[in-house]
Amino acid sequence: MIPIVDDHCHLWFPPISEEVEEYIERNKKEGVIAIINNSSSIEQVKRSLEFKDSQGILFNAFGIHPIHALEARQEDLLFIEKNIDKAIAIGEVGLDYANLKEGEKEKQLELFEFFIRLSEKTQKPLIVHSRAAAREVVELLESSNARVVMHYFAGRKWLVKKILDHGWMLSIPTNIVKLQQLQDNVALAPMDQLLTETDAPWLSPYKDKYPNESRYIIETLRKIAEIKNLALEEVAEQIVRNFEETYKVKLER
Ligand SMILES: [Zn+2]
Repeated sequence: MIPIVDDHCHLWFPPISEEVEEYIERNKKEGVIAIINNSSSIEQVKRSLEFKDSQGILFNAFGIHPIHALEARQEDLLFIEKNIDKAIAIGEVGLDYANLKEGEKEKQLELFEFFIRLSEKTQKPLIVHSRAAAREVVELLESSNARVVMHYFAGRKWLVKKILDHGWMLSIPTNIVKLQQLQDNVALAPMDQLLTETDAPWLSPYKDKYPNESRYIIETLRKIAEIKNLALEEVAEQIVRNFEETYKVKLER
């Protein structure tokens, strides 16, 4: 079976949250060997801490999404810092300037800075969201020692080149099958800087299938194989190695 890794999904959003155990079981049967459940809020971090995965393929990323910056309290940040050893990465964090409310930009920057420092301190990879703020995000990260994974990056080509020049990782979502821009990013990137993700329940590669699922990453692997002119098995194996190196884990094949 082709091994699949998903370094960015959200199991605590419906409809997946209603059947998390079944989701993990079903996806494992289809070749999924690792899933990183990214948290968007402090509630989701707490839920992840309580959840026991019987399949042994689930990992945590702890963080607060920038759209929740205004709600984030100091004690939430301390809680995440205190429990960060239960996570293999920090995410989902970043900047989202799409629909800013009064005072939100400053709060988002403050929150993102906190997580950048936490990544520097722990050397855990930072899984980064950027919307309508690609340049600001790249500039902030450039002045840090954080180990960066750019989740679904839709910024301009010169920014993609910068990301790659810094040796950061590009995590490619399943909607690559529909988006030329993501296909261009893959063409630009060396194979050892690519990771695969769903952002499930969103970004399904299929028109008629919602929610998205980790196993659908097979479509991403096929697309990367086509763009790079490589065998599917070779692409899948390289992405698994990239995952292991980035997140410092050894996966069962
Ligand atoms: Zn996400």
